[in-house]
Amino acid sequence: MNNHLYGNLIFELSKEGRKGYSLPKNHFGEYAVPAELRRSEDAHLPECDELTVVRHYTNLSNNNFGVDTGFYPLGSCTMKYNPKINEEMAALPQFQDLHPAQPADTVKGAEAVVALLERSLCQLTGLAHFTFKPFAGAHGELTGLMTIAAYHQSHGDMQRTKVIVPDSAHGTNPASAAVCGLEIIEVKSLSNGLVDLQHLQDLLNQHGPEVAAMMMTNPNTLGLFEVQIPEIARLIHDCGGLMYYDGANLNPMLGAARPGDMGFDVMHINLHKTFSTPHGGGGPGSGPVGVREGLQQFFPMVSPYHGNFAVMMRALAYILSLGREQLKMVGPLATLNANYIKESLKDVYELPINGLCCHEFVFDGLKDKSTGVTTMDVAKRLLDYGYHAPTIYFPLLFHESLMIEPTENESLETLDGFIAVMRQIAQEAKNDPELVKTAPHNTPIGRVDDVLAAKHPVVTWRQLSANS
Ligand SMILES: *Cc1c(COP(=O)(O)O)cnc(C)c1O
Repeated sequence: MNNHLYGNLIFELSKEGRKGYSLPKNHFGEYAVPAELRRSEDAHLPECDELTVVRHYTNLSNNNFGVDTGFYPLGSCTMKYNPKINEEMAALPQFQDLHPAQPADTVKGAEAVVALLERSLCQLTGLAHFTFKPFAGAHGELTGLMTIAAYHQSHGDMQRTKVIVPDSAHGTNPASAAVCGLEIIEVKSLSNGLVDLQHLQDLLNQHGPEVAAMMMTNPNTLGLFEVQIPEIARLIHDCGGLMYYDGANLNPMLGAARPGDMGFDVMHINLHKTFSTPHGGGGPGSGPVGVREGLQQFFPMVSPYHGNFAVMMRALAYILSLGREQLKMVGPLATLNANYIKESLKDVYELPINGLCCHEFVFDGLKDKSTGVTTMDVAKRLLDYGYHAPTIYFPLLFHESLMIEPTENESLETLDGFIAVMRQIAQEAKNDPELVKTAPHNTPIGRVDDVLAAKHPVVTWRQLSANS
């Protein structure tokens, strides 16, 4: 685009002496900053007129993709609509302007919010207590595992240092266990995508007295409901371990089933997935941890103060605005939408595990492998049509994973539009594979070198002087 506003950094738009601000009148008087804290030379800040600044950032935001701009079927991430009433509630000055160190008797309203949210989550999950301190799902996993470790230690059970994790697990599960100083044992999945009970039994025969916990996601990362959970829970409990539920994707369970009833003892929930709070760019999040009665005294201190209160406000607004009856529709609708897409595309995309899925499912690339068009190419081509790509190359169980999660919020027209484009891309792969392999063609930046960008990220800008 032949316009100096596009593609330039704000520093590159800078012109010496330009001003785009006017500071308010100084009501505070002068304060002498101690000499050792003062800069020795002026900071290099961009100097731009106000309109250039406004256009620069507005153009940048238009280059971004968000739930509010288009369909975002990113599997395992639950990119659902963030209702605007949530934002209004979280921005109420009575809540927004609180200070975490305020005396307790001045924050009764905030305490009531936390208590009501805790009660709601207990009812939805079948557990007895929640802590809201963790700032993310993975932080919740760590908190839950620390709770479990403290519980075993309180019984003098020091040898319980192993955590069983299915091979289909989200990457954060083994990572959290490792950070907690626990050792990971992987249990295999069968070809139907569910945990191999025989292998689990063998592992328990071998390691039973050393098992601290088993971590599971249900529905699992393939979007499949682990129907053997009660049996798995019995096996783990019989050898003295606890059951940990990764509830990051609680979405399909809302209104359908409760982890507490299935035999789980500890779980986390991603409020920033299931309860519709925004989670672009890595935050802010909240990963409350729930436990069965009798485990709450083992909650560790994992953050100062009271967790991410504004996220909790949004989650409660979502729960209350849906209400008990509508909340029961979340799981069934998310499941219906995922199955609708799956059934509408499985003749052109490879479906490795057939049958009913829950809130998400995985294709193993295009059905016709002769075109040479990969999952990466399909994902890039989707951007040309204005859709965010699904999760790709995860889970690792398949070579060309394409993991799709529509959530419950999307209209039939949106789903049909996505299905039509996915079919169109499959057709293009046959007729004009180069077109798909070189996509995207309509985005501000074409195909980037992912590996280079990950290994050598350039995240700072350095002013080049004339002779450098
Ligand atoms: C997203 C996710 C997590 C991690 O949550 P973060 O908030 O990103 O740390 C853990 N497990 C599953 C299954 C997830 O989908």
